[in-house]
Amino acid sequence: MRQATATGSCQCGAVRYTLFGASEELHHCHCSMCRKCHASMFGTYATILRERFVVESGRDELSSHDTTPEVHRRFCRRCGSHLFIDVDWKPEVVWYTPGTLDSGHPGHPVETERHIWVGSKHPLHVIHDSLPQHEEF
Ligand SMILES: [Zn+2]
Ligand SMILES: [Zn+2]
Repeated sequence: MRQATATGSCQCGAVRYTLFGASEELHHCHCSMCRKCHASMFGTYATILRERFVVESGRDELSSHDTTPEVHRRFCRRCGSHLFIDVDWKPEVVWYTPGTLDSGHPGHPVETERHIWVGSKHPLHVIHDSLPQHEEF
């Protein structure tokens, strides 16, 4: 039997998901699309193999916004929480938002955690940690 490592949900609780197993990578993305979709200085995403990511309830409440034709951002249409992204060029993984986790932490290889698209970083935001920074991906 598969062991759940973490559960998450949107702000209003309509959409709930469970993770089975560890994440592959963790990114803090500073691109303008992530900043605006999350209304924050950056968006944090982790990738996980698709078979390890299960939407348990509220799939009918998910709406979608394509920031580019290949990037499909899934969010709760009731409360607006961004929960995960499906990207056409890497269908074997889901990019979920660790900020929406409720319990547990799936873990990830620590060497994969990094800041990406730092070239698009908001000028008021200063990165204070020592994680690797990439101008683009
Ligand atoms: Zn919601
Ligand atoms: Zn981004």
